Amino acid sequence: MNIHEYQAREILERFGLPVPKAGVASTPAEARAVAEELGGKVVVKAQVHAGGRGKAGGVKLVSGPDEAEQAAAGMLGTNLVTHQTGPQGVPVHKVMVAEATDIADELYLSIIVDGDLGVPVVIASTEGGMDIEEVADKTPELLFRVAADPLMGLSPYHARDIASMLNVPVAARRATAALISNLYRVFVESDCSLVEINPLVITKDDEVIALDAKINIEDDALFRHRDLAALHDPTQEDELELRAGKADLAYVKLDGGRVGCMVNGAGLAMATMDITKWAGANPANFLDIGGSADEGRIEEAFKIIVSDSDVEIILVNLFAGIARSDIVAQGIVNAAKETGTKLPMVVAMRGTNAEEGRTILNESGLDITSAQDLAGAAEVLRDKLSSHKGGAQ
Ligand code: GDP
Ligand code: MN
Repeated sequence: MNIHEYQAREILERFGLPVPKAGVASTPAEARAVAEELGGKVVVKAQVHAGGRGKAGGVKLVSGPDEAEQAAAGMLGTNLVTHQTGPQGVPVHKVMVAEATDIADELYLSIIVDGDLGVPVVIASTEGGMDIEEVADKTPELLFRVAADPLMGLSPYHARDIASMLNVPVAARRATAALISNLYRVFVESDCSLVEINPLVITKDDEVIALDAKINIEDDALFRHRDLAALHDPTQEDELELRAGKADLAYVKLDGGRVGCMVNGAGLAMATMDITKWAGANPANFLDIGGSADEGRIEEAFKIIVSDSDVEIILVNLFAGIARSDIVAQGIVNAAKETGTKLPMVVAMRGTNAEEGRTILNESGLDITSAQDLAGAAEVLRDKLSSHKGGAQ
C-alpha cells in the first residue's frame, strides 16, 4: 500500500529523522495559513501517489503566503500527470506546505527487499533528485547497495560506510549515519516494502535532511498496523483495480495490450499471458476469479474486464475445480447481456461441468468461440486477432 508524502514524512519524524517543518492543506486558504506559520520561503507540493512531481509542476518553491496560496490554488482540484502516472494523471486533493531548504547537495537513499538475496538492501547514490532508474542505467557505478542481515539488522558500521560512500561532509557524517539507522528501523518496524528518500539533502550549513519521503507498506502486514492501514487513500488508485478489490477479485491492468484475460488461479494467469503473447498479442489486463467463484462475482469480474477500454477481445481460460464451468458460463452470459458488449470471446473450459458450461455459452447467441484447451484457444485467438481491427500486434 502506497501512502502520501505528508504521511510518510510524519512517520520519519516519529522515528527521529530530520525532515523539514511542514503542514498539510486541502484549500488555498489553509495553504496560506501554513505558510504564514512557517514564515519565509516555502515549497508547495502536490500530494499524489506518484513521483516525478518536480518536473510536472507539482512542486513549487515560493516566497511567502501569497504565492503559497496561489500555487496551492493551481494544484488543488486538478489532476497531476507525471511520468509515473497514466495520461489521465491522479487527482490532487491535498498539498503539503514545507519550509524551503537551502540545498547544497542532493543524494539518494532507499531500502527495499531484495528478492534474490531475500534480505533488506539499502541503496544509496550521490546522484539524488533524479530518476534512480536512469542512474542505474547510465552510471551504475554511482549506485551503492548494502545488504542488511534480517536478524542482526543494519549494523552501525554499515550505516557509517554508506554515509562515507555518499561523500557527505565530515560535519554531517554522524547525523547521516544515524538517519540511515533510523530509516532501517522505519522499514522493519512499519513492515515496509519500500522506503525512499529522494532527495536526501545536505544543506549549505552541512545539515542532513530528508526532503522527500516515499513509503510503501506491505499489504499482507497491514492487519498488524491499524494506524497505517487507516492512511489508505482510494482516490489515488485505479478505479477498476479498486472495484475488483472490493469484490475480492485480483485484477491487474497491463499497459499496451488488447486482450482481456479472465482466469482462475495465478499460475493459469501466467500461462494465459504467455499464450496470448504467443498468439501475437499482448494482454490488456488479467483478472483472477479465484477458486470458489459464484455467479455474482463472475458477473462483476466480466463487467470489470469490459470496462477496460483497451480490451478488444476477451480470453477466458478456466480450469474448473471448485469453481464450476456452468456457473462461470452463466455469469459471463448474464454480464455480457446486461452490458450489451459486442466484444468477441474465446473460451477454454476444462474440469467440473465443462460440457454444461460450453452448452450454456454456445446457446447464448453471443460471439463466443469455444476451444478445447489452451493451445486451441491460442489458435482461435490468433485467427480472431488477425481478422479484428489492425491485425496482430
Ligand atoms: P518528486 O519530483 O515528486 O520526487 O518531488 P521532490 O519532493 O523530490 O521534489 C523535486 C525537486 O524539487 C527536488 O529534487 C528539489 O530539487 C526540489 N525541491 C524540493 N523541495 C525543495 C526545497 O525546499 N528547496 C529547494 N531549493 N528545492 C526543493
Ligand atoms: Mn523525490
